[in-house]
Amino acid sequence: MIRTARLSLIITALAASLGHNVTAKEANRRDICSWSPYGSTLLYHQPRTCPVPIDDTAASRIGDWSPWSYLPYCVKPRNKPRSSPPYCVFSSDHYRAGHGLSVITTPQLAASIADTLDDGTVPPPIRNHPSSFLAHSSGPGPAFEIKDLPGRGKGAVATRKIRQWEVAMVAYPAVIAQMDLWEALGPDQIRAVLRQAIQQLPSEQQGVVLSLDHSTGGALVQDILNTNIFGIELDGVMHMGLYPESSRLNHNCRPNAFWRYSKDNLAMEVVAIRAIEVGEEITHSYAPLGLNYKDRRETLKEWGFTCKCPLCSSSRRVIQQSDQRRNRIREVRAVLAEREDLSGDQVDKLAGELLRLIGEEKLEVQLVVYYEVIARAYMGAFDFEKAKEYANMCENAWIQYGGLDHDNVEGMKQLWRDLDEML
Ligand SMILES: [Zn+2]
Repeated sequence: MIRTARLSLIITALAASLGHNVTAKEANRRDICSWSPYGSTLLYHQPRTCPVPIDDTAASRIGDWSPWSYLPYCVKPRNKPRSSPPYCVFSSDHYRAGHGLSVITTPQLAASIADTLDDGTVPPPIRNHPSSFLAHSSGPGPAFEIKDLPGRGKGAVATRKIRQWEVAMVAYPAVIAQMDLWEALGPDQIRAVLRQAIQQLPSEQQGVVLSLDHSTGGALVQDILNTNIFGIELDGVMHMGLYPESSRLNHNCRPNAFWRYSKDNLAMEVVAIRAIEVGEEITHSYAPLGLNYKDRRETLKEWGFTCKCPLCSSSRRVIQQSDQRRNRIREVRAVLAEREDLSGDQVDKLAGELLRLIGEEKLEVQLVVYYEVIARAYMGAFDFEKAKEYANMCENAWIQYGGLDHDNVEGMKQLWRDLDEML
């Protein structure tokens, strides 16, 4: 089973499917370091050192490439303009209790994450999570085990009940590479940087990476990346992130978990959308949530498989009913967002229908988006009490969804400012 999750960062997925701007503006970072990964919304502020970007030449000249463990290995991207910065391999041996990390990116983007190499930058709830490499080994074990599943390759199965919104898994990247790597470099350059990136990982981590599934063909490491990557951002630039532990999660069109990624410490958290029972497989959606059957099939084709999840294997009638509900959700959302003449009663009715359909389709994780739409529709109908009620629900949903330092803090502040102005 292919486990590619390219660009399936679920917040991005929500944005893509619903046209909702959820990416916080980077502007307020610039007053700290020009390439600092830390935003002002972050709760866990860490000392910042503003590391200087270094390439192989600069590093050899000054004889220092800290905090990286090896002299950067750089190539000039053959298929980019001559003025483009080099792509270099930066590796750390000690990253996350010695599991190691190799990053293939520009010197500037590598500098933007240099501070996060320090395990001390990982906030306690992530650091001490039972599945974290940084947790004390005497604590409780993870809530899942990785098992062979009939016809599905490996998957993560719950070994105890996981509560709704509980973080089921914490994972750290082993390899990060700029998303346009395959296009920017020549084939010999790709081979060289990948070889260097893998060789510079601690040997145990090399074994873990090389044992991951690969199914798209071509050179092994490139195939492993294509099959398993998650789309993540380094200072606003998309990268492939290889998280060996979370790449074991299989796809489901009605998943019981989603993943979120912190730009500030590079950790990925897999969060339960609903309670997960003992023996149940933990799944997430590789495609944006809420798509109808045809669109899901199209999207999943890019990952090279036909979905056989319970929803996709249902009878044609059940699939049609689900599609009707999903299409109606889109229609109602558009009416709520675009019609300016709705009365409070009309908003009541449409919001009620929307919430019922979302419940029936088990798309509750998308309420972060719909609550804001409903709050704004009530503002349009001058029912400020209800607008406030939904703005509160939206904020609470975002905290559950994205954690306290979630990316949509700015969006929430804007909603409250707009509401305040009308009161
Ligand atoms: Zn499916």
